Amino acid sequence: MNMEKYDYIIAGAGCAGRSLAVHLMPYLVATGKSLLMIDEDWQEHKGKTWCFWETQPGIFESIVFKKWTKLFFSGFSGKKELDIHPYTYKMIRSVDFYDYTSSVIENSSSVTIVTGKIEQTYSSGQYAYVLLNGRTYAADYVFNSIPAPVKKEDEKYQYFLQHFKGWIIQTDEDIFHPAAATLMDFNTFQKMGTSFFYVLPLSSNKAMVEYTVFSTALLQESEYQLALNKYIRGNLGCKKFDILEEENGVIPMSDHPLPKGTGRIINIGTAGGFTKPSTGYTFRFIQKHCVAMVAQLSNGGHPLVNNSFPRRFAYYDGTLLRLLRHNNIAGKEIFSILFEKSQPHQLLKFLDNETSILQEWNIFKVLPKKKFLKALIERMIAVNWHIS
Ligand SMILES: Cc1cc2nc3c(=O)[nH]c(=O)nc-3n(C[C@H](O)[C@H](O)[C@H](O)COP(=O)(O)OP(=O)(O)OC[C@H]3O[C@@H](n4cnc5c(N)ncnc54)[C@H](O)[C@@H]3O)c2cc1C
Repeated sequence: MNMEKYDYIIAGAGCAGRSLAVHLMPYLVATGKSLLMIDEDWQEHKGKTWCFWETQPGIFESIVFKKWTKLFFSGFSGKKELDIHPYTYKMIRSVDFYDYTSSVIENSSSVTIVTGKIEQTYSSGQYAYVLLNGRTYAADYVFNSIPAPVKKEDEKYQYFLQHFKGWIIQTDEDIFHPAAATLMDFNTFQKMGTSFFYVLPLSSNKAMVEYTVFSTALLQESEYQLALNKYIRGNLGCKKFDILEEENGVIPMSDHPLPKGTGRIINIGTAGGFTKPSTGYTFRFIQKHCVAMVAQLSNGGHPLVNNSFPRRFAYYDGTLLRLLRHNNIAGKEIFSILFEKSQPHQLLKFLDNETSILQEWNIFKVLPKKKFLKALIERMIAVNWHIS
């Protein structure tokens, strides 16, 4: 059989695959183990920016493009400054991430890179296998970031899309405060779904302005453009600006459980369910998952992480999506209550799935309890007894 054997294979070298390779590097060097990385397009970084919050410098601190210590939220009660200490909100550009990770990976004698479209991955006996271009690659473990098609179960789960268009604009006048970003500004129509703007100043006259919608269908291109133009001119008061760059994206927001892996295949990134269903944030969950997998490997164990975070967070996410789906309460109202009535740093900790039950109670007590409880029970019934 035409077969090559490695200790590990990373199938799909995007955010999760490359993050894992960087986290694995010291372990590979120390143990002499080999890693094969496969992607259909090794260098294409797809013009994204990744934002996240953390309290400490992370493994990619050297490529953080911009940081903000002040965040603003605008909902029902106007504009509110959020005290996020000890968190810092950070942005990494995918171009820097791909350059940095490529240099780490390509300079390592432990790693082999193959470009090609993976046709199949499977686990059998003591190895996992990847098929591409008529060749078979075997490894002790395959870390897979290629999402498998999901067979929707509408009666049980919710399937939203978080879709957005962002422009990096340059303005003639200095209208931005470079140290303060706007996490959510709900001053826009909500008829398309939960809709808000995100403003990340890069300097006093340059910012990323993004229009984001949570709904089940995408908008027409002209609708995103119209909303952005209206917001920049009307809300930001900027009559003249140049668009320097554009970001478009769609992130699945669903409570449909995704398999963590099978046998010797471990699913990572969005494919492994590391996109938070209620927010779309993924970057920090990927990093935490990588740390946990490498720790288990270093201890001689199987890299499948059973409990990346307590299961109750999946119930919270599912409940929020169910409330949005049945229009029981609008997204603007939920996020306004949360950001206006809770302590912002506790809320960020909660959205990172890291709070204790007591801290969660302090957050939940400000929410319309009857509506949340009803949605929680209805979802439990739908998931367990298929009655929607
Ligand atoms: C525009 C955009 C902006 C985002 N911004 C944020 C953010 O600010 N903060 C945040 O936390 N999250 C963000 N996300 C969500 C999430 O962090 C990203 O989607 C992230 O890239 C997910 O990483 P991944 O490795 O799972 O998937 P990807 O990065 O998409 O990597 C999957 C890789 O698999 C490869 N591949 C697919 N099929 C095959 C095949 N058959 N054979 C070989 N290779 C294959 C692809 O080429 C790709 O390189 C954003 C998402 C998008 C789309």
